[in-house]
Amino acid sequence: MSLKGKVALVTGSTSGIGLGIARALAGAGSDLVLNGFGDAAQIEALRSGLETEFGIRARYSAADMSKPAAIAATVAEAQAALGAVDVLVNNAGIQHVANIEDFPEEKWDAIIAINLSAVFHASKAAIPGMKARGWGRIVNIASAHGLVASGQKSAYVAAKHAVVGLTKVAAIELANHGVTANAICPGWVLTPLVQRQLEARAQAEGISVDAAKRAFLSEKQPMAQFSTPEDIGALAVFLCSDNAKTITGAALSVDGGWVAQ
Ligand code: NAD
Repeated sequence: MSLKGKVALVTGSTSGIGLGIARALAGAGSDLVLNGFGDAAQIEALRSGLETEFGIRARYSAADMSKPAAIAATVAEAQAALGAVDVLVNNAGIQHVANIEDFPEEKWDAIIAINLSAVFHASKAAIPGMKARGWGRIVNIASAHGLVASGQKSAYVAAKHAVVGLTKVAAIELANHGVTANAICPGWVLTPLVQRQLEARAQAEGISVDAAKRAFLSEKQPMAQFSTPEDIGALAVFLCSDNAKTITGAALSVDGGWVAQ
């Protein structure tokens, strides 16, 4: 399947799942706009490496996804420099773990801004161009926590449930414009975001990081293995394909059976 001639903006693609998705889309021939935080030299090596490895055009935007004006500017810059945003992958996300009564207000606000409001702002900016061209794909990276809850993750669970709802609204509004909107709901994927939670748990409970990994998986997933960024990337590429043209408004689990229970 070829995405040659398409342009994909993947938010939060300097690490983890976003990077896996960016690599998979580039592998299918799509030009890219990378986004996310990190060391400037490493990001430039990543950007130019993707261009060389896949023979595509790749740009980088340092936009902070908690800033609506910066999000709109990123979409506009992508359209000006590469001609379009055909594929929008809303992936940037952060986590904070605490009971509601201890949850810092600023963490609540940041998680809602980055994990939820950014999905609205980026979609709002990208949809007019998709409609004008009669083709588009919106892929929102929600979570198993978009479908079920866990304790100590109030902001994250609220944001991810809302992303699943927002995805459905976009699907309905865009149903006859050649544009689909779907959510991918991963279970555990071993990325820096999860590694930080593993290390915090290992330290809090005086156990090894390997023991924390086993605990994370056995508590939530019937399947005792992590999904990979490549697994999520492959599904994102499929959702961009012509065979997926009538898949819209779906919340697709890649979670080792987490929400089957
Ligand atoms: P990660 O920490 O490896 O990557 C997050 C990316 O988002 C990084 O590129 C980071 O720089 C970027 N980012 C963070 N704040 C940003 C901001 N304000 N503006 C722009 N970019 C920002 O995490 P990950 O595990 O790859 O998570 C990616 C997405 O997948 C998130 O939405 C997360 O909620 C979701 N998810 C992850 C898992 C998992 O198990 N890892 C499971 C379900 C859903």
